[in-house]
Amino acid sequence: MKVPYSYLKEQFQNSEPIFAHIRELLDTGEFTLGPAVARFEEKIAKLCQTKFAVGVNSGTDALFLSLKALGIGPGDEVITVPNTFYASVGAIVIAGATPVFVDTGENYTIDVNLIERAITKRTKAILPVHLTGCPADMSRILEIAKAKGLFVIEDAAQAVGASINGKRVGSFGNAGAFSLHPLKNLNVWGDGGFITTNDEDLAKRLRLMRNHGMQTRDVCVEYGYNSRLDTLQALVALDLVDKVAGINEERNKHAVFYDGKLREMSEWIHVPARAKNVYQAYHTYVIQVKNRDALNAYLLANGIDCKIHYPIPLHLQPASQYLGYKKGDFLVTEKQCDSILTLPIHQHLQVTQMEYVVQTIRQFYEKH
Ligand SMILES: *Cc1c(COP(=O)(O)O)cnc(C)c1O
Repeated sequence: MKVPYSYLKEQFQNSEPIFAHIRELLDTGEFTLGPAVARFEEKIAKLCQTKFAVGVNSGTDALFLSLKALGIGPGDEVITVPNTFYASVGAIVIAGATPVFVDTGENYTIDVNLIERAITKRTKAILPVHLTGCPADMSRILEIAKAKGLFVIEDAAQAVGASINGKRVGSFGNAGAFSLHPLKNLNVWGDGGFITTNDEDLAKRLRLMRNHGMQTRDVCVEYGYNSRLDTLQALVALDLVDKVAGINEERNKHAVFYDGKLREMSEWIHVPARAKNVYQAYHTYVIQVKNRDALNAYLLANGIDCKIHYPIPLHLQPASQYLGYKKGDFLVTEKQCDSILTLPIHQHLQVTQMEYVVQTIRQFYEKH
């Protein structure tokens, strides 16, 4: 049996409605921004429970433009985590600021007990990552940010639709950054992203910055970027917004299945605790396992497309050398890097496939 990680072919098999919208667009010629982007922004802001959403051309730009629009740049420090995708840290660096890492907890999000000691005179913002689609502890983060006068930018690229006590990610901080990359839960046919915020001035500034600082065709109020959400991608995204809840529900069902079966193998496998007040998006399903590399190879050899998110922490990447971190600085993250494994959890998985995954894992440990 094969258990692929990618599901894009199945997901987009029947995309006639999207093609029809693209054909309609050809008649209008409105190929940049336009009503499709505006409609998407309205719908996605509603989903994220924020007043505003601003479409941009990637999740990376969503982070970068949020930082820039909040005035963060050279000389400033931004607190984030070492276990994330490169872009969380890359956006901070490209904005001219310095990333300061804080270790994570067993659910892979920032350890809020370690944030305060990382704050210095130069700290301007906290950038928590809702890694795997699991929300970070936002109430504690907001408390610290308020006490210290810091901005909060949520990296919600993996977490569209996730919530804490029913309140959606992206609605907690000054800004929430989301990705529409093909591998994310809300995924278009190329690159795309958006920023959520309740701050009208910030939304206005972001709209300017993503489009050359143009107030009107003839007036530029601030030199900016070209980081518009592509109109074709907005049409794809519009088709998917209403499906996010269902996609997340399927992934949650699959997580419940895996959690139950894998917890029976607790001598080999650690499944993170699931907070009751939290709804995860399960962008990825990450467990901690014994003998990880051998299990990974065994599953791959048996047709199960597992992955590792992420094997090398960011403080130990060549790109971070200038920051002066060393091995041993973030023990929880480093330990997880050696034991984490990501199983396929996408919405098109069949129960028989998940049963096969569980059975193959058990087989591995009984043999080894
Ligand atoms: C995917 C991702 C990004 C970047 O999004 P792009 O749309 O690929 O630029 C940023 N942060 C995290 C945590 C991500 O997973």
